[in-house]
Amino acid sequence: MMATIIDLRSDTVTKPTDEMREAMLRAEVGDDVYGEDPTVTQIQEMAAEMLGKEAALFVTSGTQGNQVAIAAQAGRGEEIIAEAESHIFYYEAGAVAAIAGAQLRQLPGTRGSLLPESVEAAVRPLDIHQPPTRLICLENTHNRAGGAILPLAHLQGVAKVAERYGISVHMDGARLFNAAVALGIPIREIAQYADTVQVCLSKGLAAPIGSIVAGSTKFIEEARVWRKRLGGGMRQAGVIAAPGMIALQTMVERLAVDHENAKRLANGLKNLPGLRVDVESVETNIVLVQVEEHFPISAEELIRKLAALGVRVSQFGAQTIRMVTHKDVLEEDIEDVIERVTNCLGAISP
Ligand SMILES: *Cc1c(COP(=O)(O)O)cnc(C)c1O
Repeated sequence: MMATIIDLRSDTVTKPTDEMREAMLRAEVGDDVYGEDPTVTQIQEMAAEMLGKEAALFVTSGTQGNQVAIAAQAGRGEEIIAEAESHIFYYEAGAVAAIAGAQLRQLPGTRGSLLPESVEAAVRPLDIHQPPTRLICLENTHNRAGGAILPLAHLQGVAKVAERYGISVHMDGARLFNAAVALGIPIREIAQYADTVQVCLSKGLAAPIGSIVAGSTKFIEEARVWRKRLGGGMRQAGVIAAPGMIALQTMVERLAVDHENAKRLANGLKNLPGLRVDVESVETNIVLVQVEEHFPISAEELIRKLAALGVRVSQFGAQTIRMVTHKDVLEEDIEDVIERVTNCLGAISP
């Protein structure tokens, strides 16, 4: 008998809850391009309030949210400071170049976080030869750094530098709720250090579609124009905003369970032969597993063997595997994963 599939590739694989599906069915709708969808208006107001911003905009995806925020704040020939491994640089299909036309200045971070001094050193002086620095992008939690939470002191320091030079800060907070829950503070206490913020509803919060961008009223007006330009002007979007609202109301606190499961998973894998896991670095719902150099098979082959055993994970570099916990992976599934990985390695090890 085929074992059940346990999907740890991403928290984007989460399925909407029954409550979300019922909310979709009942949602009051209107034409949101005319600003007449009451459900969209409601989620935008709710999200703005949670994030401590004047206004918010419902967008199709995290990528669209980041890109409308960027395009609204930086243009052709201008420069954006971003962490070297950021999603905006790595995984958005070159959108900053293609859409805003700005250039990215990549700065290496420490566990995904930029030190205020290194940001300050990268701000361009007024000089006809150099591109003007317009925006600083931070990613929290940081995906490629394994779900690392950016230290509040760094955020505060970067915000001060930005203010001093008249530059905006955008926070790619695809998993910002994970950071807030792990720190045990309201999300607005993190968002306060950014002028604009993007949060995903469709990752750990399990909504089927959508992200939120938030910031000042003036910024949101500009972001709305960019969303329209990118084909994101949606009509009866209340149908997809309704499950997003359930996500904001009911799915935030439970992220703590995903964080416990990630720790449990890391602890279960750390002593297996051929793998290295830094349990201390697991702060939220992402576990990075290193396959040791001398191991008889590559990470890619190991991923294939695990898939055959019903454990789906992502490749994150030549020797790195990423596993993400989420609401559709239960505590007993984690035990099951540890057992299947153990058996898989046992069959490979010389
Ligand atoms: C997933 C993710 C995004 C983009 O979200 P999509 O909805 O997949 O476009 C942006 N930033 C980070 C850090 C992410 O993890």
